[in-house]
Formats: sequence, C-alpha cells, structure tokens
Amino acid sequence: MSIRPWRDIARRKSRKIRVGKVEVGGDAPISVQTMTNTPTADVRATIDQVLRCAEAGADIVRVSCPDEESTAALKAICKASPAPIVADIHFHHRRAIEAARAGAACLRINPGNIGSPARVREVVQAAKDHGCSIRIGVNGGSLERHLLEKYGEPCPEAMVESALEHARLLEEHDFREYKISVKASDVFLTAAAYQALADATDAPLHLGVTEAGGRVSGAVKSAIGLGNLLWMGIGDTLRVSLSADPVEEVRIGYEILKSLNLRHRGVTIISCPSCARQGFDVIRTVSILEERLAHVHAPITVSIIGCVVNGPGEARETDIGFTGGGAGSGMVYVAGVPDHKLENARMIDRIVELVERKAAEMEAARAAGEAAE
Ligand code: SF4
Repeated sequence: MSIRPWRDIARRKSRKIRVGKVEVGGDAPISVQTMTNTPTADVRATIDQVLRCAEAGADIVRVSCPDEESTAALKAICKASPAPIVADIHFHHRRAIEAARAGAACLRINPGNIGSPARVREVVQAAKDHGCSIRIGVNGGSLERHLLEKYGEPCPEAMVESALEHARLLEEHDFREYKISVKASDVFLTAAAYQALADATDAPLHLGVTEAGGRVSGAVKSAIGLGNLLWMGIGDTLRVSLSADPVEEVRIGYEILKSLNLRHRGVTIISCPSCARQGFDVIRTVSILEERLAHVHAPITVSIIGCVVNGPGEARETDIGFTGGGAGSGMVYVAGVPDHKLENARMIDRIVELVERKAAEMEAARAAGEAAE
C-alpha cells in the first residue's frame, strides 16, 4: 500500500511491443514522441531536427514518408538518429516496404487503407523481416466511408471499430507487434474513443489529441485529453500535436507526464505566481532558471518562492529551494531544510551550481550502480 494512495495511478495492463530499442506497453515507461516537420528528403535538416528532439528527450521520432525521395533519405536519418524512427506512411504500401528496409523501427500505416490483401501481406512480411512494429493510426477526421454511413458521424464506436478492423488484418498474418491510436481534435471524442478501445484490446495505446492547435491552446487541450486518460491508467506512449516546434511537443509531453508523476526528466520548478509580498523578482528568476537548467536531464525539483508565506512549505518537498526574505536576501534550502542565507543578486548562480552538483552526484551514483551490476 502506497503512503499516498491518492497519488497512485494503476496503469492498464497492455502487452509490450518494441519500437526499436524502446519498449512500449506493459510496465515500460510511457514514452514521449514527436514528429519532424522538415522535408524528409532534406536529410541534413531532418537529422538536425531529429537530434534537437532527441536532446529534448524524445524517446521516439516520427518522420513522414510521402514519396520515394523520403524513403531514400530515411536510411541516413535512421542511422544518425539516437531515437528509433517511425515512418509515417499513408496509402502507398511500397513506401512502407522501402521504409522497413531503410531501418525504420515502426511503420505508421493502416492496413485497411493500402488496397489489397496481397499488399497487406507484403507490408507485414517486410515488417517481420526488418523487426519493425506497426502503429495503426485511426483519425476521427478520416474514418472509412462505411463506418461514417453506419454511425452517421465520427463517434467513439466508429473509431474503435475502425481500429479493430485494421488490427484484425494484421492478426490474420500472425502479426501482434502493433500499437493503436484513435485520435480526434475534440477532447471528448478522443477520451471516449481511447476508453472504449482500452476495454476492447490489450494492444499498447499511443495517445494524442490531433490538430490540437498552437503552443498554448494545444498544450492545454492535450493536457486535458491526455491527462485524463493517463490519470485513468490508459496510455503507453504519447505525442502532443502542436502547430509549433517539435521540441515544444516533447517538452509539453514530459510536463504532462511529470504532473502525473508518471515520468521524471529534467528539472521541475515549483514557483509561486508572485505578488506584492515577493522578496525578489520571481517571474524573471524562473524564466532565467528554466533557460539555464534546460540541459539538466536528472529529475531534480527546485522551489522558487517569493516569500515565507509558502516558501518553507514548498521547499520541504523539493531538492533545492530559495525563499525570498527581507532586505535583498533570502534562504537557500537543500533537501528540504534551510541551508544558508544568500543575497538575491547571487541566487540564480547558486541555484544553478547546486542543481548541477546534484545532477552530477546522481549521475555518478547511477554509473556506480550500473558498474556494480
Ligand atoms: S508565496 Fe509569497 S510572494 Fe509568492 S504569491 Fe504567495 S504570498 Fe505572494
């Protein structure tokens, strides 16, 4: 029994598959994905973007393959990427086969959309031969005509039926290395479709609210849609879809997981909104610290609180903290306890130093643990 049962999330039991070196489903950590938006045939630009996304923490990166030039470029992209690459294919089964040969770890393709049973067989064979998994990606905006006629409009039942029809085509070829998404741009439809799908299959689920919008509105919409599902224990991997830099999608994906205690990566800053009581400029400080601590990957919590109203309480729960006081100085907390007084002017450098030192200690302890194993 957990000491804080109100924080526990019981994850749905899904079967585990692999996307290259990343496990998806079962007890594997919920992975964060994004997608490049450079022309895939521009190998240099695409690799640069993939590397930036991987540096931001992307576990898996998807690359669109609309034409043969793209799948030709994929080989170099897969080779250079530290994260497994998912090739996004829509209707052309040849592209899927080329992508599998080029080293894609996963194909995003709906077997029901590629034309004939013979083509499905060929794609599944290519996936088996090259160790690729498949993502079935149902989208509320592009449901099959017969389902729209049956149900009248995109609805959870239609989306689940579509997903299960595609899954059956893979299972007929004895292929079970697949995950499924049922995305819609409407959060209610998205959440209801995933809930119904979670009951209907043990396949791992890739979560997303599609076409969620720009950085702020899309982040809020995704946090509501994905957050609710994750809180219910549903979801094995996710992508936050934003009309923004893919690196932002990765950051927001992690923030959603961090808020629910499902994954920890990098520095989490707990800060107050500030008010007339603040002993230093909280907003400016947090914005500088976010920038200066972005390179830290270790899961460290930092509290930056304007005054003693909430400072000591928040500091107790974080690794490193600063609480504003009077006369241009405040209190530095380490491991939840007051450590030393410090002038405001020196605080940012000190917090960065303390965080970097703690990150180095954690890394050394991790390396020692691995060496002992
Ligand atoms: S912690 Fe202090 S400075 Fe920050 S918002 Fe609350 S009262 Fe204002």
